[in-house]
Amino acid sequence: MFEKILIANRGEIALRIQRACREMGIKTVVVHSEADRDAKYVRLADESVCIGPAASKDSYLSMPAIIAAAEVTDSQAIHPGYGFLSENADFAERVEKSGFVFIGPRSESIRLMGDKVSAKQAMIESGVPVVPGSPGALPDDPQEILRLANAVGYPVIVKAAGGGGGRGMRVVHTEAAMLTAVTTTKAEAAAAFNNPEVYLEKFLENPRHIEIQVLADGEKAAVWLGERDCSMQRRHQKVIEEAPAPGIDRKLIEKIGERCAEACRKIRYRGAGTFEFLYENGEFYFIEMNTRIQVEHPVTELITGIDLVQQQILIAAGEKFTLRQKDIGFKGHAVECRINAEDPFTFVPSPGRITNWHTPGGPGVRIDSHAFNGYFVPPYYDSMIAKVITYGATREQAIARMNIALSEMVVEGIKTNIPLHRELMVDGKFIAGGTSIHYLEHKLAERP
Ligand code: ADP
Repeated sequence: MFEKILIANRGEIALRIQRACREMGIKTVVVHSEADRDAKYVRLADESVCIGPAASKDSYLSMPAIIAAAEVTDSQAIHPGYGFLSENADFAERVEKSGFVFIGPRSESIRLMGDKVSAKQAMIESGVPVVPGSPGALPDDPQEILRLANAVGYPVIVKAAGGGGGRGMRVVHTEAAMLTAVTTTKAEAAAAFNNPEVYLEKFLENPRHIEIQVLADGEKAAVWLGERDCSMQRRHQKVIEEAPAPGIDRKLIEKIGERCAEACRKIRYRGAGTFEFLYENGEFYFIEMNTRIQVEHPVTELITGIDLVQQQILIAAGEKFTLRQKDIGFKGHAVECRINAEDPFTFVPSPGRITNWHTPGGPGVRIDSHAFNGYFVPPYYDSMIAKVITYGATREQAIARMNIALSEMVVEGIKTNIPLHRELMVDGKFIAGGTSIHYLEHKLAERP
């Protein structure tokens, strides 16, 4: 097992990884920007290294700074968390070439899945159902583009092959709007993702977002750890997640879970990963794979009792992979609310000093947060400051506990989206379960 791991991230996930390491008796090195100097996990780390100024591109995205920090601290492995460099195949490659272990899949797997066109191709070859669409990236010929769009049938969605974070997507309803949409999305994709390739998909009108968690050893062993429902979204960004997904036939989940595990074996996937699907009328359609730990991983941990971050570390260290599908059981229900420092009505970010901070507790309540009383939420990064996760024997109990937890939570000095979560926890449609990915946007549009 590793003696020392470098954590190349910030915020709640830096603390989450640190907790996993401490439980395993592994020393932690935390890298941080000047803006995160006073973070809780920096104080708790065995060692810390300032890797640059506040701007991510000069710190958390600086490969040489992170690798140099691993060198000076004699770290053996690097955990990239989520976001930042976690799905950067070049980074994974440079980490390994510099003699460190990258806690994640092989760079080839990251590259394959990082391009959504090649990812879909790989899924088709592995027998995983995908959203109908263009067979690959769109050609330049306008007539050919229109022919492909007609074949798929409007409405379609034009998506950047290298896209992520809910950006680089455009819905097109008519042939008249098609070519302009392609040109605009291409230009955006070239600027944002350094890859102008776009492809076409059927735009599903009322799907749910259902994803499957996997763990694999890089050889022939792979298991799936159930699903998460992440349909409560705003601007293609998840707001609430839960596990299991309400109202879906377990047989269907088992079938798709098995397909995902099989795809992992086929590409010799290593570590934790998530297959994202849209689910409509009883069918699953693959949209993309995330080759890292996800924000919403705790809901899976609560219903399976498996620590996913520790599993990532064990696999990366080359420990024998002992998990078998028959040993993975699902018990109870878990819900996660992402608490963001933002105005709950306008969604404008609200960085600043937290003057009063109190987190809830009690049975079935888990708080993953790096914030504390007096913490300054920096304006430079993602606005998520906490995840409130509740567990119950039933979905009703998990939601009831979330209601209580949110009512106990106190955050003063900055605005948060807690009022929005409180609204959603008593929303009839949410309580009924199974709302589509458009539900929240529609609800927000109807607000007085
Ligand atoms: P990203 O990598 O940016 O997260 P995804 O491909 O995972 O992009 O899509 C993000 C979200 O966009 C999905 O959860 C869904 O809400 C919406 N979306 C993507 N593809 C489609 C589609 N074909 N039809 C309808 N909605 C879609």
